[in-house]
Amino acid sequence: MRIVLADVRGGEGFVSKDTVAGGFGSRLRPFSKVTGVVAALKRRFHDLPSVHLAYAAALARRAGHTVVGSRGEVVDADVALVLSSIVDHRRETEWARAMRARGARVGFLGLAAQTLPHLFEADADFIIAGEPESAVMRIVAGDVPSGRTASPEIADLDALPFPWWDPLVPPRRRVRVPFAGRPVGGALPVLASRSCPEFCTYCPHRIQSTYRSRSVANILDELSALQDVRGPLHIVFRDPLFSQDRERVLALCDGLRSRSLTHTFECETRLDRLDPALLTTMHAAGLRAMSFGVEAAAATTLKKVGRRPIPETQQREVLRHCRRLGIVTAAFYVLGFGEDTWDSILATVEYAIDLGSTVAQFKILTPYPGTPLFKRMQSTITETDWERFDGFTPTFTHPSLTHDELTFLLGSAYTQFYMRPSFLANYLRIGRSFGGLVGSLDASVKRRYARHAALARRPRPC
Ligand code: SF4
Repeated sequence: MRIVLADVRGGEGFVSKDTVAGGFGSRLRPFSKVTGVVAALKRRFHDLPSVHLAYAAALARRAGHTVVGSRGEVVDADVALVLSSIVDHRRETEWARAMRARGARVGFLGLAAQTLPHLFEADADFIIAGEPESAVMRIVAGDVPSGRTASPEIADLDALPFPWWDPLVPPRRRVRVPFAGRPVGGALPVLASRSCPEFCTYCPHRIQSTYRSRSVANILDELSALQDVRGPLHIVFRDPLFSQDRERVLALCDGLRSRSLTHTFECETRLDRLDPALLTTMHAAGLRAMSFGVEAAAATTLKKVGRRPIPETQQREVLRHCRRLGIVTAAFYVLGFGEDTWDSILATVEYAIDLGSTVAQFKILTPYPGTPLFKRMQSTITETDWERFDGFTPTFTHPSLTHDELTFLLGSAYTQFYMRPSFLANYLRIGRSFGGLVGSLDASVKRRYARHAALARRPRPC
């Protein structure tokens, strides 16, 4: 069979799919100068290929089929598998229609098609529900399904072949950019574990499967194979909680060194799953960037959505140590939780600045279908276009903030975080040398934003 694997290039704004928002994907449509720059930089540094399609490619190759990748080009195929997303489903189904018109049998995989099959099924021969590998194994064995087909998770992740990238990503040289954690080109995602053992009610990462991890030896074998074929790369561990098991991470770092693997890497994790000694070991093994959720400054807000708050002292200690080592840090924040008010959001942004991560990502709370939060908020959801569940668009009636206010606060968060002298000083790692000057410049910028925010604030009845 000739099998086409499609990760259809996103439309307007910066679209990222695959493992982002658990597989729903996100889309940043610039709505200010600062978000325009953020979207442009993300396009350059953060456009990662799909690891799920690379697993499908490996399974198809193992079964002896011809495998072709597509970013939206319509090509001849017997079977096409399309990576689904919530944020760009119209372009994906349009591509599927064109492929079916050429005679291919088309199926969708991913969390979006599993959770919202009605968006896809008119243009699909089949929809895979669950992690795709067990269904893909049946397909490559000649059993191409019709309609919705269940794909139970594979318990032993070591049993899977390593992702095969050749049909999806031509080898690219990695070009290091000073002060950036991720190079241009030469970055590939790796899944050392899947799902997450935590219970945050807004999180889509836990919908599709249970938490499982691969053995350290199996991960190292994959990294060795990548270095043999493509040379040293920048590895992006796409696990939602990479350092859940401290001993496992230490063993992985040990293996990277003993096997002379010179990849650099980054990961996403929780700050309470890190400590200075672990970070030092990870940095020596190649850790160059790290992302983590802070979400909101108020612990009470986090507890309401099932997220275990992390003590501020722990957060600051980890960030301080990352700065010392030169690890680029990206903190995630969510604006618009039920308990949020105008002032609490400003406090979260202030906390983000004070915490001092290298970069920060702010999003608006999005009740993703399939999450416990979605069930709880269903009656408040006003948005009917699923593509606008993109992480940056208000989709529900907030108890105390209008959609315009949420959007204003989101834009203001980006402006406040990035348009201040200390951001540049931290980024260039000169903050300590010019601390006094930078601090007073920051204070004057902050006064200006405070005046701007006060003008934008809706007058409230006494
Ligand atoms: S820690 Fe919470 S938000 Fe992060 S991946 Fe796990 S469940 Fe999701």
